[in-house]
Amino acid sequence: MRLLRVSWKWFTEALFPPKCLICHSEGKYLCEKHDTFHIAPPSEVNFQYVDSIFAATHYFSSPARQCVEFFKFRGFREVAEIMTKEMIMKTPTSFFKKTVLVPIPLHWTRKFARGFNQSELMAQTIAKYASLLVSTNLKRIRRTPQQARLSKKEREGNIQHAFVWKGDAIPRNITLIDDVVASGSTLEEAARILKQAGVKKVQAVVFARGGNRNRQ
Ligand SMILES: [Zn+2]
Repeated sequence: MRLLRVSWKWFTEALFPPKCLICHSEGKYLCEKHDTFHIAPPSEVNFQYVDSIFAATHYFSSPARQCVEFFKFRGFREVAEIMTKEMIMKTPTSFFKKTVLVPIPLHWTRKFARGFNQSELMAQTIAKYASLLVSTNLKRIRRTPQQARLSKKEREGNIQHAFVWKGDAIPRNITLIDDVVASGSTLEEAARILKQAGVKKVQAVVFARGGNRNRQ
């Protein structure tokens, strides 16, 4: 199986060599000129349930935005590796201490349509690196319109009661993993449900902050 995967990778790369997402030069998904991510400005969101949050980069800068678009909407998993590496390198170690990683879930119909949950892939890679466990006991029970298309007020209403915790054991400390945070209402609602279930501390690590400039 592994051999098959390796040769498939070789085959697709021979046919479609990776190109820089910014300048389209051949070789890598981000060339040496375009592989620097900008630092995110401090959060302007006052969270009630999320105790602390870290964003590896700023969404409104290259190459963060191109990475998110390619990964999420075109399924470029190789780009996910670049994004996750950035999260691992930048996040203060305190976020990955004695914690269980919980990816923000997609509704199963959306995961089925996309073929993967981007946050889950990120959480699995971080877990391997930091020797942590991933729990997928946080479930999305309502199929909600995509947050990016809504205003801040609409987002809060849209996401309410979208999650449940379906597990017997309640970790004391959870770190939520997501690709992008905009208004923060998704993380906030997930954290609210987790605290209701008995989790003491909820942190969040995201790849980029600021997903929708006009609607925040
Ligand atoms: Zn480039």
